[in-house]
Amino acid sequence: MVLFDVRTLFFVGAISAIVCATMLWLSRGLHGPSRPGLAWSSASQCAFGVAMLLISLRGAIPDVLSWPVANALGSSAAALMYEGVRRLSGARPMPWLVGGVAAVLCAVHAMLGSDPRWFELRLQITSVVQGGFSAASIPLLLARLRRDDEPRAPLRWAVGFLALFGAGHAARFVVVAASGAPISQAGMVHGPVQALMPTVFAIAPMVYSLILIGLVNGRIASELWAIATVDTLTGVRTRRAFIDEARRALDPGGTPVLMMLDLDRFKQVNDRYGHGSGDRVLQRFARLLREACPEGAAIGRYGGEEFCLLVERTTPAAGLALAQRLCDTARATAFGLAVPDVTVTVSIGVATAADGTTLEELLIAADRRLYRAKASGRDRVVSSDGPLEVDTRPMPEAAPSDPRARGVGVPLSS
Ligand code: GH3
Ligand code: MG
Ligand code: MG
Repeated sequence: MVLFDVRTLFFVGAISAIVCATMLWLSRGLHGPSRPGLAWSSASQCAFGVAMLLISLRGAIPDVLSWPVANALGSSAAALMYEGVRRLSGARPMPWLVGGVAAVLCAVHAMLGSDPRWFELRLQITSVVQGGFSAASIPLLLARLRRDDEPRAPLRWAVGFLALFGAGHAARFVVVAASGAPISQAGMVHGPVQALMPTVFAIAPMVYSLILIGLVNGRIASELWAIATVDTLTGVRTRRAFIDEARRALDPGGTPVLMMLDLDRFKQVNDRYGHGSGDRVLQRFARLLREACPEGAAIGRYGGEEFCLLVERTTPAAGLALAQRLCDTARATAFGLAVPDVTVTVSIGVATAADGTTLEELLIAADRRLYRAKASGRDRVVSSDGPLEVDTRPMPEAAPSDPRARGVGVPLSS
């Protein structure tokens, strides 16, 4: 009959749990929002590690340490782990629950002491507490899985791990209830099947810690991705993300329309109403683009007050109509500036499939026409390189007493 020494197994498990607790503690600075979750999880892995260490030293240290203290600590570690999951999943913190559970467990295990008669009862209490907290953690993580900004794979791994860990405890509860403890109080088990559960407990902290590090790394990656691809001020794509998306969407035989839009005399908005107002105009303009554009159109902020738009499957006429609609809507929109009647206008250069098949060709054509729209008077759409009627209307003179007449964009009538 093969005998497995659980003490040696737990000694190795304890060392790995304490190393993992240290890793979680040192990693808590990686991601601000996950910091409390990592700190509580580190505390839980540390408690698991110390509990296993005390069990592994059975015989060499007083029984009161290797049994009651180890069991109280091992079960309380599950409450710490649950609090860690609550913090990582954004649920309301419940530190009093950890304190309460730890106090009750200390009292119960102190009462049971190291009396061999209560060996099975102590195992059952540990199974109920650790299995219960594992099961209670699962819905919190499942709720996070429904969020778009969460990394799926590590969350699924965490759910799977907790489900297995909880199921393991449930299985042990049933086995102990049906046929007594599969482990002797001296820490020996007979055969590999009985060694399975202690092995799972010994490697669980390491697996769980790696999953948590994966989760935090995934969160960092998805936040960096969002920063790189979504313009924080306006919520449309960044220039780089727009180019990537447009390149993906461009179909060699398709009929795309690409527009470059630049707000007219936007510097004056900043100069007259402040950068905060300028930012709000940019946000409102981006919303206007999102509302007016057909589903599937790529919208990007190409530069400061310059936007780009690609509609992949459309006709030149429909693209031109959309550009004109955007131009008219901008002129008619109240941008929430301090002076209500001031208009903010936009100039638009339009390129169609006739101008080229690559993104670069379309961008060059649209940019050239945007320049022409500016040169010929602003507040207009230019979609060809033919002769243009130059707007020779004089700029309205600013009357200092009437701020509405100072003019932002063109026309400035109010
Ligand atoms: P034009 O009609 O020729 O386009 O004139 P313009 O004043 O719009 O063009 P110009 O390039 O001279 O000025 C663009 C201004 O956009 C300058 C800059 O202060 C402003 N700007 C760029 N990015 C931002 C931003 O994120 N927020 C705010 N408030 N202003 C910005
Ligand atoms: Mg401009
Ligand atoms: Mg510009």
